[in-house]
Amino acid sequence: MVSKQMYALGSNRSCIREIFEFGLKRAAEVGAQNVYDYSLGNPSVPAPKEVDDAIREALATLSPIEAHGYTSAPGRNDTRDAIAENLNKRFGTQFSRKNLYITCGAAASLVSTLRALTVDENTEFIAFAPYFPEYNVFAATGGGKLVVIPPDIPHFQIDFAALEKAVNPNTQGVIVNSPNNPSGVVYTEATIQKLAEVLNAKQKEFGHPIYLITDEPYRELLYDDMKLPFVTKYYANTIVCYSYSKSLSLPGERIGYVLIPDEAADSEAVYAAIAGAARISGYVCAPSLMQHVIARCADVTPDLAPYIRNRDLLLSELTRMGYNCAKPSGAFYLFVEAPGGDAEAFCAAAQKYDLLLVPGTGFGCPTYMRISYCVDYEMIKRSLPAFEKAIAAFK
Ligand code: PLP
Repeated sequence: MVSKQMYALGSNRSCIREIFEFGLKRAAEVGAQNVYDYSLGNPSVPAPKEVDDAIREALATLSPIEAHGYTSAPGRNDTRDAIAENLNKRFGTQFSRKNLYITCGAAASLVSTLRALTVDENTEFIAFAPYFPEYNVFAATGGGKLVVIPPDIPHFQIDFAALEKAVNPNTQGVIVNSPNNPSGVVYTEATIQKLAEVLNAKQKEFGHPIYLITDEPYRELLYDDMKLPFVTKYYANTIVCYSYSKSLSLPGERIGYVLIPDEAADSEAVYAAIAGAARISGYVCAPSLMQHVIARCADVTPDLAPYIRNRDLLLSELTRMGYNCAKPSGAFYLFVEAPGGDAEAFCAAAQKYDLLLVPGTGFGCPTYMRISYCVDYEMIKRSLPAFEKAIAAFK
């Protein structure tokens, strides 16, 4: 006998993984050069040199226990101090190590936070489509549920009328992800201000805190001089879930954090509950070597030039061919309106040319499709005829 819930989660592969596996199969049949795989969000830019140097230095200078041993559950002090200092310098905040809990990436940060805030089986978390599909699973871990607000097409900001209707006494949190996966859109300052206004009013109406959970793995991947409003400055009850997976190209190393500001309601209790949720998930502590790396590299920024080059080539070529794209100002995704209006049908047709795109259905936006452009520039050039053929079939 096994848990039905866990069996279902483990045996239903995500749509993105299915497409990726299909790509591997096709690469074995027709050659990797002839498959144009835009499915996964694996950073194509190598980790910065400072990260490599920090790993080498840690291995050369630290004792085995220091380099690879257990750390305290919330993380090393020097790691948390370095992160707090970096945030305070950039955003004029006053965080210290006690506001930070180091985790195994954004997924672990979100699971711990949502679990910590789930009070009973009626608990609800709100997300805005298009959204990261794993939120459904993360919200369900503690027995709560995800409520999805339909997409604000074509700008992909927030439909506030729908939000006001959706918030109710069971709403414990609202999840935002900006820069966004899959749209690449960044929420404007006006959007964040209005969100804070709506949530403040709703907290008053229902008489309990509603936390704004900001999922920020793409925070440092911002283009065109775009400024990202740092949400804790706009709304007191903000909890930040961060990850170095994308900013330092370390997705397999599993390192990130949760930030719980002092001004958040019941901040000490929330921190303790997040520690409890991390404990029950069996994380024990985040990887020790990576905590050393972050202590030394908290100020390191990613090389964005390859992503900008990829985005610009795709955006100009696809627009010239007649595709309609949301303007991406961050992350490494293009969200494109499916020619013909049905992304499942279009992506299935594109697969005939070995062009692997992800339909927006799982992201809550079935008329769009996602292109992950964290890929080799030469692959983009080789793939352009396939994009031409795919759209021609739908004209
Ligand atoms: N949130 C979003 C929006 C993501 O796109 C991802 C990964 O792609 C995650 C969370 C999980 O990131 P991590 O690798 O840090 O767990």
